[in-house]
Amino acid sequence: MRKLEDTYQHKGLRKKLIDTLRNKGITSERVLEAMYNVPRHFFLDSAFDKIAYEDRAFPIAAEQTISQPYTVAYQTQLLDVHRSDKILEIGTGSAYQASVLAEMGAWVFTIERQRKLFDNNKNFFFKTKYPNIKFFYGDGFEGLSTFAPFDKILITAAAPFVPPKLVEQLKFGGIMVLPVNEGEKQRMLRITKKENTDYSEETFDYFSFVPMLKGKNN
Ligand code: SAH
Repeated sequence: MRKLEDTYQHKGLRKKLIDTLRNKGITSERVLEAMYNVPRHFFLDSAFDKIAYEDRAFPIAAEQTISQPYTVAYQTQLLDVHRSDKILEIGTGSAYQASVLAEMGAWVFTIERQRKLFDNNKNFFFKTKYPNIKFFYGDGFEGLSTFAPFDKILITAAAPFVPPKLVEQLKFGGIMVLPVNEGEKQRMLRITKKENTDYSEETFDYFSFVPMLKGKNN
């Protein structure tokens, strides 16, 4: 197994990335601090070691991507994470986003539909550091009814619509952040659950995510 080292050089690059995120409009100091604390290069193939702190997405296994740091910061900020929040994440991927949420003190339940990516996290290197992350292999459209309701839900893949079962699994007053398809791009939405299945909706910027697909891939 690869030796994971977080050197002064990595920390310096990470500091620069945080400045970039700040310049791009991220204002939550809690989000910026968490992202400074999580070594993104650990979540990438060693070939990307030198460029891991550029503000861009990179390929991971199963033709998926680790989201751009700006996107991670943007979604996390909209989610308004509080310590001890119970959060459902759809699309584990590299587990970087899950780690940022865990670093902020949340209880994270994360679902991945690609078997290979799920298996990669069986020996998650931060298992001891983040015992507050639980990994699941399944279809995010179904959510995790056994563990519902959640304070927050975060979808990190392009959703064709607001998944009704996920709205059901939100607490009243709970928040879901998700990118929803609008032509070639996705519009970031934040929904706040009212009573029953009713919710209010706020719209934000456009992004580009890999698609949220139905079912599991073995
Ligand atoms: N949060 C990830 C980003 C991964 S990209 C990270 O920090 O690295 C989006 C991920 O969503 C991909 O891994 C993809 O396989 C997964 N995905 C797509 N549709 C899904 C679904 N219905 N249920 C669960 N995961 C899904």
